[in-house]
Amino acid sequence: MPKTPVIDLHCDVLTKSLLIFRKRLTVTPESLKKGNVGAQVFALFVHPKIRKTKNLVFREIAIFQRIMERNQETLKYIIKTQDIERVYKEGKTAAILAVEGGNIIENLDDLRFFANMGILYLTITWNYHNRWADAAFPKIPEHNGLSNEGKKLIMEMERYRILPDVSHCSEKTFYDIIDNTNMPVIASHSNAHKLFNHFRNLKDRQIKEIGKKGGIIGVNFYCGFLNGRKKCTIDDVVEHIKYIADMGGIEIVGIGSDFDGITAVPEGLESPEKYPLLAEKLLKNGFSEGDVSEIFYKNALRVFKKAKKING
Ligand SMILES: [Zn+2]
Repeated sequence: MPKTPVIDLHCDVLTKSLLIFRKRLTVTPESLKKGNVGAQVFALFVHPKIRKTKNLVFREIAIFQRIMERNQETLKYIIKTQDIERVYKEGKTAAILAVEGGNIIENLDDLRFFANMGILYLTITWNYHNRWADAAFPKIPEHNGLSNEGKKLIMEMERYRILPDVSHCSEKTFYDIIDNTNMPVIASHSNAHKLFNHFRNLKDRQIKEIGKKGGIIGVNFYCGFLNGRKKCTIDDVVEHIKYIADMGGIEIVGIGSDFDGITAVPEGLESPEKYPLLAEKLLKNGFSEGDVSEIFYKNALRVFKKAKKING
């Protein structure tokens, strides 16, 4: 069995911990260790319809800090992606923050604050339009893509080397982001529309554009996006990986589990400790060990390195 590390581009541990006290988590230090996870991205998220956004974000940051303090043997908070490999060699999982939803960013000073916390990406919208851009939901646009302020935000993100994340964006927003940044564009937790027709899934052309921008797509493990049913299996994940690799090249495929933010997980891939089983399944489906390590780890590392080099 290949022992390749994994970089998971998205989980919702912090939101779940905030909303559901003492709820059992899927992403735990133990499961990350068992699954050989080299880096785990923790999203900061507040539902756009909830007020007191900043208070809740601070509480999520405090939850993150508490998790880091209590698990110093296995987890290490990093603000530079260059540290991932070093931390992994020390036998720990690198913990990285990200912001899901432009509603959390009220102004460009906020962006500076989060940049200094080392956020990897900003998901420009969640499921509702915000002042920066239109989301994939609702259907009727408010800005017709990025607003003028949204364009400024995208430019400012480039200055801080924060990756623009198009998961949840409308199609028009997607192409506006592509046109307004030199950064690799990522979809941190998204799947293929051709395999299941959901507004959150990416069309073929979008998959190809992410490839052209040197980005990555973290394949999402939610049954609702994989096959639209309440139940799905690890084979559905393999199908989406295969499809995205065929459409955009293997170099754009990554992992964006969405664990702890999703209500139905694939049979056989219920938690991070099952990543070795996913590796095995991929090998049985015609992928080489080298392919698996690209999908699990190397593609993400390459995107992070590329992002650091933009404009100097
Ligand atoms: Zn999401």
